[in-house]
Amino acid sequence: MADCIFCKIARKEIPAKLVYEDRQVVAFEDINPQAPVHTLVVPKSHFPTLNDVGAEEEGLLGHMTLVATRIAKDKGLHATGYRVVANCLEGAGQSVFHIHLHLLGGRRFTWPPG
Ligand code: 5GP
Ligand code: ZN
Repeated sequence: MADCIFCKIARKEIPAKLVYEDRQVVAFEDINPQAPVHTLVVPKSHFPTLNDVGAEEEGLLGHMTLVATRIAKDKGLHATGYRVVANCLEGAGQSVFHIHLHLLGGRRFTWPPG
């Protein structure tokens, strides 16, 4: 999508601290980190919200999750714990309308989230 910030990052049109890339996804550091580790896993294809993702994208969603867990392991979070979050729509805190997983770690988290 032409003026989507995450499409632009995926196309390298605007800079980001990339930590991983493959055919389907990019992962980069969040610009406003909420924890010592805050990495975003973003598909290269544009879907505004999780509501827009159909069953045919089951593989992509699984891949995004596995990329998040692999980065968690690379960053040494697999023993202490981490959180993988997707916000869907404004009511849940979504602010960028291109789906993404947040990988958060390096501190303790409370539940329920705010
Ligand atoms: P959401 O609120 O949609 O769940 O998460 C969007 C995330 O994207 C936020 O944590 C925000 O800090 C991050 N973000 C927004 N714009 C940019 C950007 O231009 N670069 C990077 N690296 N992160 C961004
Ligand atoms: Zn996009």
